[in-house]
Amino acid sequence: MRRKLYLETFGCQMNVLDSELVLGQLRAQGYESVEDRDQADVILYNTCSVREHAEQKVWSRLGELRDRKKLEPHLVIGVIGCMAERDGTNLFKRHPHVDVLCGPGELDKLPSLVHNATIANAAHYPSPPYAGERLGGGASSSNKNEDKTPHPTSPLNTGERRQRERQVALMGASVRRSSTLAAAEDHLELLDLSRSVSPGDDISQAYVRITRGCNKFCTYCVVPYTRGPEVHRPPQNIVDEVRMLADAGAKEVTLLGQTINHYAFAHGDGRVTSFADLLYLIHESVSHLPRLRFVTSFPRDFSDQALQAMRDCERICRYLHVPAQSGSDRILKLMNRGYTRQQYDDFLSRARELMPDVSVASDFIVGFPTETDDDFAQTAELVRRNRFKNSFIFKYSPRPGTTAIDRFTDDVPEDVKRRRNNELLAVQQQASEALNRAMVGTTVEVIVEGESKLVSRQAAGASNVELKWESRRAAVPVQTQMVGRTRGDHVVCFDGDRSLKGEILDVTITDARNMTLFARRATSGSFTVTNPPPRGTGLQPVRAT
Ligand code: SAM
Ligand code: SF4
Repeated sequence: MRRKLYLETFGCQMNVLDSELVLGQLRAQGYESVEDRDQADVILYNTCSVREHAEQKVWSRLGELRDRKKLEPHLVIGVIGCMAERDGTNLFKRHPHVDVLCGPGELDKLPSLVHNATIANAAHYPSPPYAGERLGGGASSSNKNEDKTPHPTSPLNTGERRQRERQVALMGASVRRSSTLAAAEDHLELLDLSRSVSPGDDISQAYVRITRGCNKFCTYCVVPYTRGPEVHRPPQNIVDEVRMLADAGAKEVTLLGQTINHYAFAHGDGRVTSFADLLYLIHESVSHLPRLRFVTSFPRDFSDQALQAMRDCERICRYLHVPAQSGSDRILKLMNRGYTRQQYDDFLSRARELMPDVSVASDFIVGFPTETDDDFAQTAELVRRNRFKNSFIFKYSPRPGTTAIDRFTDDVPEDVKRRRNNELLAVQQQASEALNRAMVGTTVEVIVEGESKLVSRQAAGASNVELKWESRRAAVPVQTQMVGRTRGDHVVCFDGDRSLKGEILDVTITDARNMTLFARRATSGSFTVTNPPPRGTGLQPVRAT
C-alpha cells in the first residue's frame, strides 16, 4: 500500500515551486499525495519566515498535531523550508513531536530524511512494523491488517529501544558559499533537473527558477540566511526546463528569482549570459510558449538591454514587480536597499519610456524602526506619483537573525503601523481604481486561472442543488464566474465555464468596481485596441485575427 503524504505550503512562489519539486520526488518514491491531513502517514509543512505572522500559522498547525502524534507515534511530521533553516533544532524544543527538519538549501535530501524518520519511528515505537521496508515500497500506518511480525532486517531485531532519532538537513547560517559557485556543482540543481510532468498535472501556469538565494542583505530580511547566497542556474538548463513545460502544455511560465534582473551566468570561459540574453534565448528557443513573465525585480541592476528585451519580444509580458519598500531615502539607507527614491523613480521612467504600457507592482514596509510621519508621507507620495497597478504592503516584523533586529529598536507602535498600513492601502486603492477604470471598454488577453473564489465558496457552503444539477447534466458546461489574468497581471472576472481553465482568450472589460475588473468574452477578431492604451494600464494591444 502506498504511503500517504500531506504537504501544505506557506509563503512565496519560490516555496510553491519547491513544494512541486519535492512532491515529484516523493511521488517517484511511491508516496501518494492526499488533501486530507487526517488520512496522511507523512505530514510536511513547507514554511515561510519572512514575517512572524507566517510562522505563527505553522506553530498553530504543529500544535494541532501534538495529540495525534501521541496516538499515532509512527506518523512522520516534517517542517521544511525557511522556518526549518531559521529556527534550526530549537524547533524541537517547542515541538518535540516533529521528526524531520529540512532547509530550502537541502531539499534534495528530503526523500531519504522522510524514509529514515519512518524507520526511526518504527524502531522507537515497535508496532506496527514499518522497519526494513524499501525506500519507495511503502507500508501504511493505517493498514490495521498487516502482518505484525518484524521484518528480518528490521532495527527492531536489534532489541534496542533507542532514543527516537530525528532527521535534520540544514545549510547552517554560517555556511556562505561563493556567489560564483557554478550551479553545475550545486546539488540543488539536480532537484530542478529532476522535474517531470505527469498526465493530469495542472501546468498551464508554471514556475521556473533561474536564481537561488540572495546576496543583498536588506537589514530586515531573513532570505539571505535561509536560502543562502545567490546562485545562477546555467541558461541551457533553464531553456530545457521551459521547453519541457511548454511541450507538456504550459501556456505561461514565470521565471523566479529574488533579484531576478541580477541574473548573470559566468560560463567559465569568459562568456557571460546576462538576464537580457536569457530572455531573448528563452523567447527564441521556446517559440510555442504563449507567455513568459518574471518576478521579482530589484530597482538597481536593471539594464536597458533587459528592458529592451521585454519591449522587443512579443510573448514576454510587460509586467514588472519591482518593490520600492519605502519612499524615504533615510529609511532606504537603514534598510540597506542601495538606491534612493530618485533612482527608483528614474528606473520607472526609463521602463515607461521604453514601454508606455508596462504594468508595475511594488512592495512596501511600513513602520520600519525610526520611521516618522514625514518618512511615511514620502512613501505615500511615491505611491501616488508612480501609478502602481497594485502594492503589497507589510507592517515591519522584526526577524531573529537579521541585522535590523540587532541594530534597531522596533519603536513604531503597532497602532501606528496599522494606521500607516491602512493609509497606504487607501492611496494605492485610488491609483488602482483609476487605472482599472481606464481599462473599461478595452479588450485584453487573459489566461483563465479557474473559478472565482467567491463563487467556489458559495458552492461549497450551500449549494447541494447546484452540485446535483451539475452531476445530472454533466455533459452541459456549467456557467459560472471564472477568473483570468492579463499580461499586465490584472485579475479579471467573467462568465464562463470550468472547461476554460488554462485557456488563453480575449475578454472585453465592461466594469471596474473597487479593485476588481469585470468582463465578457470578446467575439473573436472583432475587438482591436488600435490606439496606444493609457499610460501605465498594463494593456497590450490585442492583435486582430
Ligand atoms: N526579493 C524581493 C525584493 O527585494 O524586493 C522581496 C522578497 S521578500 C521575501 C517579499 C517581501 O516581504 C519584501 O518585498 C518585503 O516587502 C517583505 N518583507 C521582507 N521582510 C520583512 C519584514 N521583516 N517585515 C515586513 N515585511 C518584510
Ligand atoms: Fe530579502 Fe532584500 Fe534579498 Fe529581497 S533583495 S530577498 S528583500 S534581502
